[in-house]
Amino acid sequence: MLWASSLRMQTNRLMIVAMTDQGAQAKKPRIATVSLAGCFGCHMSLMDLDERLFTLFDIVEFDRSPLTDIKHCGPCDVGLIEGGLCNAENVHVLREFRANCNVLVAVGACAINGGLPAQRNSLDIGRVLTDVYRVRAGLANNSEVPNDPELPLPLAKVHAIHDVVHVDHCLPGCPPGADAIWAFLTSLLNDGRPLLDKQLIRYD
Ligand code: SF4
Repeated sequence: MLWASSLRMQTNRLMIVAMTDQGAQAKKPRIATVSLAGCFGCHMSLMDLDERLFTLFDIVEFDRSPLTDIKHCGPCDVGLIEGGLCNAENVHVLREFRANCNVLVAVGACAINGGLPAQRNSLDIGRVLTDVYRVRAGLANNSEVPNDPELPLPLAKVHAIHDVVHVDHCLPGCPPGADAIWAFLTSLLNDGRPLLDKQLIRYD
């Protein structure tokens, strides 16, 4: 298929870019990924790259990501954000990514516009918490809204990440498919200009 041979050519180019002219190992681009207020589906799409993950591991290094055990994002070339902002911790992590990533990408509908979690935006968050933890049928006596100080404070509304930080690129979809992620990421790593064929964008 045409797209398959085009991806192969792209991969070959990327592997060449990963080497210096003299054959010494070039510094690999560093990528971080995180899931904020999302369902992890966008990360599952990343996993759907399947054997292309091996190529990716050859040409990049992963910083903070569910693929590593790194707790805080360090200086990176690209940050991929899944999910929007529903609590204070999401905002803190997003700011850390923005401060450390040269290029920040909003991946999927939740990061781009709040997505499914933003459906709560028409409701009062205090009323929702009371209904869920104190009013709902079947709760134990004296059930209270959790208030452990270690729990991140919920925001009154769910926000897209561009409400808080500058976003360089958006990769639409819910989730974007593995082929879309591959085309987007490889073109971005190749020359800094992400390309995405409309046929690769889907919202199912
Ligand atoms: Fe999940 Fe869709 Fe949001 Fe991605 S965009 S985190 S797949 S709900």
